[in-house]
Amino acid sequence: MRLLLVEDDAMLGSALRTGLRQDGHAVDWVRSAGDADTAWLVGGDDVPFDAVVLDLGLPDGTGLNLLSRARQRGLVTPVIIVTARDRVSDRIAGLDAGADDYMVKPIDLDELNARLRALERRVGGRAAPQIVLGEVVIEPATRRVTRAGAAVDLTARELALLLALARRPGATLSRAQLVEALYGWDESIESNAVDVYLHHLRRKLGAALIETQRGLGWRLVAP
Ligand code: CA
Repeated sequence: MRLLLVEDDAMLGSALRTGLRQDGHAVDWVRSAGDADTAWLVGGDDVPFDAVVLDLGLPDGTGLNLLSRARQRGLVTPVIIVTARDRVSDRIAGLDAGADDYMVKPIDLDELNARLRALERRVGGRAAPQIVLGEVVIEPATRRVTRAGAAVDLTARELALLLALARRPGATLSRAQLVEALYGWDESIESNAVDVYLHHLRRKLGAALIETQRGLGWRLVAP
């Protein structure tokens, strides 16, 4: 998923960004309500983020206020609040302001990743934890991909690209959309990176799985 991480604590933010990237997410990290506003709210419906991980206590405002404004503007981006505020009334206020989930610090990275996967399943309207495309089966919850029953070893980026395509079944994603799914702002991108990952995925999962729509992009097809 492409994530917006809003966290002013330098050590925690850095650890979260690293951990989330290791799980295959593209992460953009901002440290203030103002920067979060610019990244998330200014873009309107063109928000590139699949989810927002939101701290509440920020140097220039509260995450709760930011969340309320986002929902007032009709932005439906899923939000997980990650905060030190552990009172029941804080949790209720967060959920009522439009958060989809709420975690109290110190948080466990594996649990955050699991909650993001659960969020992704809910948003995708997929009750089933599996995506089946012919002989290829993708399990986002466990990051497990099999082909004809045999486990396939994918790198984090290959998996991220595959999940970006799988998240929108039948839809064609452009090169820009795939780059957006794979990289944060501060990451440099090799010009042929997407082609390289597609090549590896086709080699590992079968060439027919990923269809090229010339001039438009790529989509997954069940062979
Ligand atoms: Ca904070």
